[in-house]
Amino acid sequence: MKAFEQNIRRVTPYVPGDQPDFPDMIKLNTNESPFPPSPAVKAALDNLPADTLRLYPDPDVKKLVHALAASYDLRDDQVFVGVGSDDVLAMAFMTFFNSEKPILFPDITYSFYDVWARLFHIPYSCPPLDENFKIHPEDYFGENGGVVLANPNAPTSIFMPLSEIETILQHNQDVIVIVDEAYIDFGGVSAVELLPKYENLVVVQTFSKSRAMAGMRIGYAMASPALIQAMNAVKASYNSYTMNRPAIEAGTAAAQDTAYFRACCQKIIETRAYTASRLAEMGFTCLDSCTNFLFASHPAIPAAELYQKLKERHIFVRYFNKPRIDNYLRITIGTDEQMARFCEAVKEILSH
Ligand code: PMP
Repeated sequence: MKAFEQNIRRVTPYVPGDQPDFPDMIKLNTNESPFPPSPAVKAALDNLPADTLRLYPDPDVKKLVHALAASYDLRDDQVFVGVGSDDVLAMAFMTFFNSEKPILFPDITYSFYDVWARLFHIPYSCPPLDENFKIHPEDYFGENGGVVLANPNAPTSIFMPLSEIETILQHNQDVIVIVDEAYIDFGGVSAVELLPKYENLVVVQTFSKSRAMAGMRIGYAMASPALIQAMNAVKASYNSYTMNRPAIEAGTAAAQDTAYFRACCQKIIETRAYTASRLAEMGFTCLDSCTNFLFASHPAIPAAELYQKLKERHIFVRYFNKPRIDNYLRITIGTDEQMARFCEAVKEILSH
């Protein structure tokens, strides 16, 4: 080993889902929306004068922050925006988790949490979900350095009632509790309504799923002004200009068009019910989903085999080769037509 190599940071990175590119594919592997963003987003991008790109964007991102705050009935100083919720969560980890005590998140959850914890040298501990993939609030009542919960959880798709989130908050008033609500718009109830009661709560959401803007990279956190100020100070110590001008304009337009995004979510919820019933008819177990995906397992065909056979047909779903969930597939909800074709392909594979 060369001497300089001894000082190179070695990490095991998070591995995102594949981004295959076939004209005939059905892509159900990264929980994107099958619909385009609001027409107001296209108009905002069409109207963006390219010559403004010579100027830096607003480091405080006031326009987008204001549009988001208005849509949640919050004050502007209660909102932080970043480059996707991954960026927002990473900033939150850096800002809030500086204790010697371990932070807590479930053993099965978004697999970026442990990657950030290791990157930022944050000790962590992972209470296991029960055999029905449910979180037990009591597991989060002991001393800890902070709590992170995805609600609904991923990849299980299960929503935890707000009353249970609240008991976790009540037992954790001396640490920060982050609730990652990437999938909240597909049937859950947001913890935003708890913000007036808990000044240690941070709610994180994203434009990548319900607002159909994964390619634009916008996420946001909502919390008390003191926590938002702390996140902004850390961000400004790292990279002042995270949000670019097109993202600010497109994001503001999307934030203002709540009717369009609610209609898209409703459609996904209906298609999810249709897909779940078709899968149940074919013998699958599907966890009760409040997200834009289903987590499903079949008694007769191993998930890895089904994943592979679907892939050969250019139908992409997500498979996690991890203990406890290695016989499940995570299937993003697409359009009615995509899901009908997906179900036909599954039926055909099962019949062989
Ligand atoms: N949280 C959860 C639970 C997710 O599944 C995802 C999507 N990979 C994210 C956060 C990050 O999404 P984004 O950075 O696109 O906002």
